[in-house]
Amino acid sequence: MKALDELTFDNRFARLGDAFSTHVLPDPLDEPRLVVASDAAMALLDLDPAVAQTPVFAELFSGHKLWEAAEPRAMVYSGHQFGGYSPQLGDGRGLLLGEVYNAAGEHWDLHLKGAGMTPYSRMGDGRAVLRSSIREFLASEALHALGIPSSRALCVIGSSTPVWREKQERGAMVLRLAPSHIRFGHFEYFYYTKKPEQQAELAEHVLNLHYPECREQPEPYLAMFREIVERNAEMIAKWQAYGFCHGVMNTDNMSILGITFDFGPFAFLDDFDAHFICNHSDHEGRYSFSNQVPIGQWNLSALAQALTPFISVDALKEALGLYLPLYQAHYLDLMRRRLGLTTAEEDDQKLVERLLALMQNSGVDYTLFFRRLGDESAALAVARLRDDFVDLAGFDAWAELYKARVARDGEYSQAQRRERMHAVNPLYILRNYLAQNAIAAAESGDYSEVRRLHEVLSRPFEEQAGMEQYAQRPPDWGKHLEISCSS
Ligand code: AMP
Ligand code: MG
Repeated sequence: MKALDELTFDNRFARLGDAFSTHVLPDPLDEPRLVVASDAAMALLDLDPAVAQTPVFAELFSGHKLWEAAEPRAMVYSGHQFGGYSPQLGDGRGLLLGEVYNAAGEHWDLHLKGAGMTPYSRMGDGRAVLRSSIREFLASEALHALGIPSSRALCVIGSSTPVWREKQERGAMVLRLAPSHIRFGHFEYFYYTKKPEQQAELAEHVLNLHYPECREQPEPYLAMFREIVERNAEMIAKWQAYGFCHGVMNTDNMSILGITFDFGPFAFLDDFDAHFICNHSDHEGRYSFSNQVPIGQWNLSALAQALTPFISVDALKEALGLYLPLYQAHYLDLMRRRLGLTTAEEDDQKLVERLLALMQNSGVDYTLFFRRLGDESAALAVARLRDDFVDLAGFDAWAELYKARVARDGEYSQAQRRERMHAVNPLYILRNYLAQNAIAAAESGDYSEVRRLHEVLSRPFEEQAGMEQYAQRPPDWGKHLEISCSS
């Protein structure tokens, strides 16, 4: 266990120099206070969780103090936003403080979001509000606990600094952790500004630090791109299987590591709805729930375009062709497990599709359906779940297929079935209304609800005593909340 001043820095991105990022000091927030910290994320830095309670912790992560070895930098990147190219984006309100490595030899970027203006702030104020910082914190840690690759969050620090959005709010900072903060948009920036040398430097950096095994391949850059395709296919399969809607899949929000990145108006589905749009400024539904799958490929194509100086177009196309089959394989594998199946049959895809079609517009809670399905034997569970469906005849027909399929799957006790299914079907997910409750309490100075919710979501598959209220469908006010995109 380390004390706060014992972190070891090795700022490899900063060393790429001024073509890649700009030195900027954090602009501190007034009266900083700890809102919430993640013990699990603290462990990634070998930090003793107790240090989160010390005043210096809140000072470090609100911009008042800095380690001597930190090198705060604002990164430059660009990207496709809602299909159109934005030639210059960059860290407009976040700073890469540096890269820290732990006793296990893992490197973690420390990124302080909400740290003030940078050369990339454009019209923005460089700030993040408490509401959005709490949402990013909860989502990062909750996705990780579900087994969905994600950036992590160490803590949220609140303050008394006023920040204007639709109304006056309070500034906050969230400390994000990721092995890299490089986005698809980094490659696009150097490609479209025609800086081949820097682009090659960036590619070497990513290859050496994050895809060293690809060095062994005859075409290392191509191997790396393939790996990025694979990781994205797997990540998006997990989003779809668990009902996570990202909301702003612009290429500047896509990580080169295939981890969920940059949380805005995201949502987990309550009732199943394939066409759900969580971002209310997404009028066309470009980033609707079911569109996430083709958009994943669109984004990879945008990255592929930026890699044409290094890789032949034919090879890139071939690698892109891996995306859909890989996505489908991962998705089906997860959905089979969610249904309690241990073997594979050809018609399983249809079984899943039919179920989702029945759920559509039925008002069936997506998370609780699967959890309840494992509570009892297949026959008892479907009989109990039946009433939630609108098309009862349709559901009965599906239930017959499902029971027969379960029977063919193998012999196991209900206890085994339940254990196996509950291990992949969460009881608790980050429902928007739960986040909203925690935010409302935090905005009035009570952080206990954020902390409790974080705790519950850190063990989503385990039934926790006294936490029934977190495993409920949303109350009427909590359905279809409009989440502000301003953050
Ligand atoms: P986002 O929608 O959060 O992914 O942000 C898109 C771009 O806008 C990024 O370059 C951000 O750094 C920048 N940005 C978002 N909010 C602010 C803000 N309040 N101040 C400055 N820049 C911002
Ligand atoms: Mg972003």
